[in-house]
Amino acid sequence: MDQAVAAPSRALDLGLAWKHSFSGLGPAFRTDLSPTPLAAPYMVSLNTKLSTQLGVDAQLLSSPDGVAALAGSLPLAGQRPLASVYSGHQFGVWAGQLGDGRAILLGDIETPQGPQELQFKGSGLTPYSRMGDGRAVLRSSIREYLCSEAMHGLGIPTTRALSVTGSPQPVRREEIETAAVVLRVAPSFIRFGHFEHFSAREQYGELRRLADYVIDQFYPECRLTERFAGNPYAALLERVSERTAAMVAQWQAAGFCHGVMNTDNMSILGLTIDYGPFQFLDAFVPNHVCNHSDEQGRYAFNRQPNVAYWNLFCLGQALLPLVGEQELALAALESYKTVFPRELQARMRAKLGLADQQDGDRELVEDILKLLAADRVDYPIFWRRLSHLAAGSPAEPVRDLFMDRAAADTWLHSWLARLPADRSAAGIAMLATNPKYVLRNHLCELAIRQAKLQDHSEVETLLRLVQAPYDEHPDQEAKAGFPPDWAAHIEISCSS
Ligand code: AMP
Ligand code: MG
Repeated sequence: MDQAVAAPSRALDLGLAWKHSFSGLGPAFRTDLSPTPLAAPYMVSLNTKLSTQLGVDAQLLSSPDGVAALAGSLPLAGQRPLASVYSGHQFGVWAGQLGDGRAILLGDIETPQGPQELQFKGSGLTPYSRMGDGRAVLRSSIREYLCSEAMHGLGIPTTRALSVTGSPQPVRREEIETAAVVLRVAPSFIRFGHFEHFSAREQYGELRRLADYVIDQFYPECRLTERFAGNPYAALLERVSERTAAMVAQWQAAGFCHGVMNTDNMSILGLTIDYGPFQFLDAFVPNHVCNHSDEQGRYAFNRQPNVAYWNLFCLGQALLPLVGEQELALAALESYKTVFPRELQARMRAKLGLADQQDGDRELVEDILKLLAADRVDYPIFWRRLSHLAAGSPAEPVRDLFMDRAAADTWLHSWLARLPADRSAAGIAMLATNPKYVLRNHLCELAIRQAKLQDHSEVETLLRLVQAPYDEHPDQEAKAGFPPDWAAHIEISCSS
């Protein structure tokens, strides 16, 4: 018998406490496979704030082995890489099986923030790659990296990103670009589409295992409820509806347009996930469509709340074999219709500096949104200037944003009358609610152009700004200004 033992393959030991919870669901949920190494990987950016929060050694990650590991070119000791299978509705149409076509999950680790999964995006082919190449380009990877951190900086639930690494390896899109890998971090990357997959295939054993897993790991309260006749699956649907409602309310208040709200891009934890052609609004255009590929405008900014409900309805249908009665599923979904408007009003009141709720607040919100839309006022700048007004600055900078000064004055008059007596306290609260720095498309674009020339300093600067978006950062004033004219012509599509 051949006694030779294969030399242990080299791996980077970060001392991580792996759990591999998702892998434990069983083989029906995944294909085990390794990332495909990228040639000559280099660091674009390491999110040291996040590495500290996770208790992962940033210095080790910055070493040549660290960079190779973050690019998927050197294994992490203890990883058990896999691609998961899911399905989904894309642009309103059942798309059948999709799956992690370019994402690879390494497992979950114990962290001071609780268990967190580590997942590569762009790390090579999987059995679910379909026509794709398993890769992600530098441009879209920088966008995902920065936007996850921007959302987190705004307090919006999101997956996070630990690093972007690049490689000279060419990747073909509309033109030849280069490859990059983002290492994403979240308690779970399970999507509505995971449930749709097993439900559509009538694999109800797997469906139940998945639901039980999600409940036990993330929604244990669903087992305790007496609502829905003690049905934990209906309770799960209700909790996911609530979290999704709260997340989308935050999107709308922040002026965030996701761009591709397919059911496979909806997190079961109510996290913003899969950053593609997203955009933070510049001018307030309610029916703005940020995804150049979305010709019907299905995912227009003002349609997001309805689309989220439509997606939850798909999840409800997928869970129906477990929930049992349609009435229970419909009752669970109802929570969206109460939580979304309540959360949106609360977010908008906070933007207006109103700590309590009074009659007429809804009109105050509706009226200002109408005025902002009529004059296509810059959304972030309006709110920031309004915050300064409350804090004691003159009204002119706010009035100057409107063509219809008389209408603006009328609204400002009612708002000022409604503000609490302690205006400066309201102003301080508003300055901590209405960000000065927003990850606008053109800022990303400029950072990407430089990164393509191997200069990553703008990525670092933007990371610093979006991680503390309410701070003044006086050295970066220009990035808080109006977008240049060319920003209106940036076209971001699904190509990534
Ligand atoms: P997305 O629109 O980015 O959410 O992707 C939808 C589906 O296509 C998912 O299953 C992705 O994994 C897959 N996909 C997107 N881009 C690629 C790619 N370049 N290679 C392989 N699969 C991809
Ligand atoms: Mg996706």
